[in-house]
Amino acid sequence: MREITVAVLPGDGIGPEIIEQAIKVMDAVAGKFGFKIDYKEALIGGAAIDETGVPFPEETKDVVLSSEAVLLGAVGGPKWDDLEFSIRPERALLGLRKLLNTFANLRPAKLYNELIDASSLKPEIVKGVDIMVVRELNSGIYFGIPNGVFVDGDERVGINTLRYKEHEVERIAKVAFDVARKRNKKVTSVDKANVLEATVLWREVVERVHKDFEDVELSHMYVDNAAMQIIRWPKQFDVVVTTNMFGDILSDACAMLTGSLGMLPSASIGGDIGLYEPIHGSAPDIAGQNIANPIATINSAAMMFTYSFNMPEVEEVIDKAVKAVLAKGYRTKDICSDGCKVVSTEEMGSLVREEIEKF
Ligand code: NAD
Repeated sequence: MREITVAVLPGDGIGPEIIEQAIKVMDAVAGKFGFKIDYKEALIGGAAIDETGVPFPEETKDVVLSSEAVLLGAVGGPKWDDLEFSIRPERALLGLRKLLNTFANLRPAKLYNELIDASSLKPEIVKGVDIMVVRELNSGIYFGIPNGVFVDGDERVGINTLRYKEHEVERIAKVAFDVARKRNKKVTSVDKANVLEATVLWREVVERVHKDFEDVELSHMYVDNAAMQIIRWPKQFDVVVTTNMFGDILSDACAMLTGSLGMLPSASIGGDIGLYEPIHGSAPDIAGQNIANPIATINSAAMMFTYSFNMPEVEEVIDKAVKAVLAKGYRTKDICSDGCKVVSTEEMGSLVREEIEKF
């Protein structure tokens, strides 16, 4: 029997609650498809600071490096907000991404027709939206040096540096074109090449990589226009590839097209070990209440089967199970409009598991 090893990092806030539901679903598909999952749980974020004094302990690094994929809940919360920047829970995320060299962040924003009323946009604008944002994750302004707050004469100056090497753009562009080949063969590369030299280079390199993917249509868009077009007519997009910071912002805008942060998964790939996590944070305002939506985490686990274990049929079954639960009217509070049946975090996890068991 095939055995896979998954590092499980629940983290803080709603992290442990939503991870528990994803594990129910993973166990159900393992039973259905006849493989075994070896889960290795470890501390990260605030939970790790409380136990060990640091957000990303060495033991957690060892667990991660001895696994084939990582499932992460979320980190952070008000309890740790006053800590010095370098040891805040969120630093663990940067450390984890760097350690795994996961330079490509895939964030699908797909609207479930059952949830069309949860979107803040008109149904005719969002019906059928299916965008894959491919965000560069390991470079750009979040990592460029110099960075920091310095004294400059009689005042302070805050500095971050937008920096991309050619190979960093090349590899993310390849991922985007590859993903597009499995979808509708359209890539929109988003930059600010009218102002930022770093993205003039970005555009040039994307053009160059495109020569090996001529079956895929490529267009370029400035980030300010892209922000507008995502709201105006989102169906024009298939794959959007962009820098770390632009991707951070645009993928959240895409998220809202679909109604709730609680629905959206992500995969970070590129290295040997993939990282899978919901795009939302630790939602401290609802932690411990058993009302968080676990679907983003369940869908992140689903992506893991496609991208880390080459089992797209498992992702398909999970997707069908989630749709079946939604079609029956079950909703967590965040996605409920009139006439739905509100269920808890745990109930939602169990409902998805039951649907999988029925297949
Ligand atoms: P957040 O995503 O945690 O929450 C934003 C809003 O969305 C809140 O009202 C929350 O209740 C709601 N929400 C989020 N996920 C939900 C879910 N699954 N079901 C139902 N509702 C959900 O963002 P925030 O409030 O800006 O940040 C809270 C903490 O999370 C901060 O400490 C922040 O640094 C951290 N954070 C962590 C990550 C991560 O671990 N990847 C990402 C973003 C923010």
